[in-house]
Amino acid sequence: MATDSDLEPPRKKARCSADEGPSVESKPIVVRVGETKQEFYVHESLLRANSRFFDNALKKEWKEGQEAAVDLPVHDPDLFRTWVKFLYTGRVFVGGAENLMDNERKHYPELWAWEGLYDLGVYLDDGDFRDALIDAMIDWMCASCKVPMKFARCVYPLTAESSAHRKLGVDAFVNIGRRVPVANMSSFPPDFMRDVLREIMPNLREGLDSSSAVDWFKDMDSCHYHDHGDKPCYKTKPRFRY
Ligand SMILES: [Zn+2]
Repeated sequence: MATDSDLEPPRKKARCSADEGPSVESKPIVVRVGETKQEFYVHESLLRANSRFFDNALKKEWKEGQEAAVDLPVHDPDLFRTWVKFLYTGRVFVGGAENLMDNERKHYPELWAWEGLYDLGVYLDDGDFRDALIDAMIDWMCASCKVPMKFARCVYPLTAESSAHRKLGVDAFVNIGRRVPVANMSSFPPDFMRDVLREIMPNLREGLDSSSAVDWFKDMDSCHYHDHGDKPCYKTKPRFRY
């Protein structure tokens, strides 16, 4: 998983682009986040294009002289900052997550940030961001050689049965890494255990192979685990470069 650098989606390193690029003509909207009401100023066009939550929230008419503002009082400013950076860059920055962790989570702060970010992506209804987080999770699995058990526990309650994000949880659980006894199977969502069984049953006679995360994902287009369907992938959309 990326620290402050590296979840840049693959794309050509062109110095200029034929794409129009993100709109910057719209006015900035102030978003006040958390108990401290930390303020973020974000272009309205980006908020509305990427988030159905903001698209709905910004439909109201603002009175002359009134500041256009949206409050997110129960959300974490650090997580929201990561989302705003994604809007402008198309990259997921989780550096600084150590500010968010408690003692139990100190070994894998990126994972804690991932859960919170995914939850935020659901709340804001930003499918591109959630797909980018799936790519971030794949990167983390490849770099750490681990499959986080919490992935399925996080994603299943927040997704529909048809979600490709669920498929990543099942594939990783069944196919990647050493198989060790899972202490508390009842802590997994029942839908997840059903999908795991569905995946392994046809192969019980021949047995199941195990792969490293790097080998499993190396020839696979990560869109296999994205939820955009026939719509353009976030990886193909123009963002600001720096
Ligand atoms: Zn995709």
